Amino acid sequence: MEIIKDSENMQNKILLLKRSSKTIGFVPTMGALHEGHLSLIKQAKKENQIVVVSIFVNPKQFGPNEDYNKYPRVHDQDISLCEKEFVDFLFLPQENTFYDTNHLTYVEVEDLSNLHCGKSRPGHFRGVTTVVAKLFNIIQPDKAYFGKKDFQQLVIIKKMVEDLSFPIEIIGCPIIRDFDGLALSSRNKYLSNEERKVALKISQSLIKAKEFILKNEKDSQFIYNKIFEELNSSEGIKIDYISIVDDKLLKPVKNISKNTVILIACFVGSTRLIDNLHCADFLN
Ligand code: AMP
Repeated sequence: MEIIKDSENMQNKILLLKRSSKTIGFVPTMGALHEGHLSLIKQAKKENQIVVVSIFVNPKQFGPNEDYNKYPRVHDQDISLCEKEFVDFLFLPQENTFYDTNHLTYVEVEDLSNLHCGKSRPGHFRGVTTVVAKLFNIIQPDKAYFGKKDFQQLVIIKKMVEDLSFPIEIIGCPIIRDFDGLALSSRNKYLSNEERKVALKISQSLIKAKEFILKNEKDSQFIYNKIFEELNSSEGIKIDYISIVDDKLLKPVKNISKNTVILIACFVGSTRLIDNLHCADFLN
């Protein structure tokens, strides 16, 4: 595995690979890698000749009162995990030089970026689309891999790629969960043992919702109420939002169908966690 820290070096390497017509799969991450990230890398390995992983804690997607400074940075551990997965290139841009001091250009997917997580985290998705567009221009992948764990992010990236004609296929990968159902996240590291138990309620509320839906309950208000009751009655959870929406425009729906996704964000202590249930995974 080759580790590259400089954008120009990375781009030059890629141009050489492109000349020899190698297919490139790309997995952008912020590091503190877990099985969720590794599942994306494994899928990229299956489908491409060359796999590039990036690790960059992107300051532009964190709000002023968010966890940018304390976000886990465990490069040695991440490097050995990438080596084990036979990643070809690990792109590790330096946090202080990746953006020019005079960086002025931003990419924003309107509307979609202001809903749900975007409402609670103003500017977050603008930061995400800006860094992903910049990384896409450096890596020039054929395919890029994103987790359905960050469902809204996946929808926004797909829209950016469509609207700006990036010649890249965006692959959405399934949510990887811990043994008990908690969606894996680098932020789970922040949770105390007690908080982790409480956090389980989030995935449990989605499992219950799925059971109702499978029993043919299609009224989104009913399902919303069930999830709300479950989470609201749990000591230690503060609901940020519960949204039952369509999976393309992310607008509220009255009746649940295959194209519905239930998005949840909650605070457990000071940690903000997200999870979701995409009905396409279990409805025809
Ligand atoms: P992050 O490092 O949090 O920016 O995540 C990098 C990529 O890994 C994103 O595309 C995430 O959606 C994906 N990811 C994070 N957690 C999971 C998970 N539990 N299952 C699947 N993908 C995940």
